[in-house]
Amino acid sequence: MLTDTFGRTIDYLRISVTDRCDLRCTYCLPQGFKGFAVPKDWLTLEETARIAAAFARLGTKRFRLTGGEPLLRKGLADLAADIARCEGVEDISLTTNGTQLAKHARALREAGVRRLNISLDSLRGDCVKQITGADCLPQVLEGIETAKAAGFERIKINMVPLKGINDADLDDMAAFCIRHGFILNLIEAMPMGSTGQEHANVSLQPVLAQLQQKFGLIPFEGSIGGGPARYWKSADSSFTLGLITPMSRHFCATCNRVRLSATGNLHLCLGQEDKVALRPLLRDGCTDAELETAIREAVMRKPEKHEFVENPKKIIRVMAATGG
Ligand code: SAM
Repeated sequence: MLTDTFGRTIDYLRISVTDRCDLRCTYCLPQGFKGFAVPKDWLTLEETARIAAAFARLGTKRFRLTGGEPLLRKGLADLAADIARCEGVEDISLTTNGTQLAKHARALREAGVRRLNISLDSLRGDCVKQITGADCLPQVLEGIETAKAAGFERIKINMVPLKGINDADLDDMAAFCIRHGFILNLIEAMPMGSTGQEHANVSLQPVLAQLQQKFGLIPFEGSIGGGPARYWKSADSSFTLGLITPMSRHFCATCNRVRLSATGNLHLCLGQEDKVALRPLLRDGCTDAELETAIREAVMRKPEKHEFVENPKKIIRVMAATGG
């Protein structure tokens, strides 16, 4: 088991397979962004699988593939299958913007991906275009339909409410999720990079009050997926709402994860700069035991908490660079 100096067990690894994305969401990647990693610095999928296997030997049970847009990386289903084969792995999930999902959903499900988070901030095409910079709503909806048919165990829709842009869309998003049996996962925008910093001004607490009243939601104490969300359900269980509130009510004391970037940096906290480079070790021919020691030592450097509220200008890297 991996534990940090604050007694937290780390049993969840989020793996970014690319920092590139086909969308430019206003709170994530700036238009004209030029700071992408160069291919020679990308971990190969074999290197990524080797690090994942080391984490699995150290007790990590849950893995999430993310990015950038993970479906832009060729061979993703093979990586998922490699991770699924590791002893002790209980859960592999994927976060995607859905634009490429219609092509890949079945293969990913067959490879062992159990759960999906699909990002969708509105059901209005013009609003989606305003947020993502692309006219992609029909493609994303097709991806969602295909994913539903492919039989994933659970699908969550990630939505980042933005003041005056999509915050009037909450009822429609809830109705969409009820119709399809999806969980609506609302995320407070975090001040990551200049884009995130521009938008990190929406507390979800009033949104919760509004949705609680409208749908008669009651708190759900059980865990759904091992992430940081807290959940509410309607009395008939037809609607489940998840809230991720790093700004208005942080959850650092129970943080159970670290993040591997596409270039092999192990980020120990989304909201701090602390990281350990694993790529040089791999390329210098380290043994599995040396890799495991490096991971154990890195986890001991995990910071106590982020400072998104106290120090909102601190993190200049964009979310896509770390893996959301
Ligand atoms: N491209 C994939 C996608 O769109 O789902 C995966 C990567 S994306 C960085 C993962 C999640 O991070 C998305 O749900 C996105 O909405 C969220 N995200 C990006 N920037 C954010 C920010 N500044 N604050 C909060 N959430 C953010």
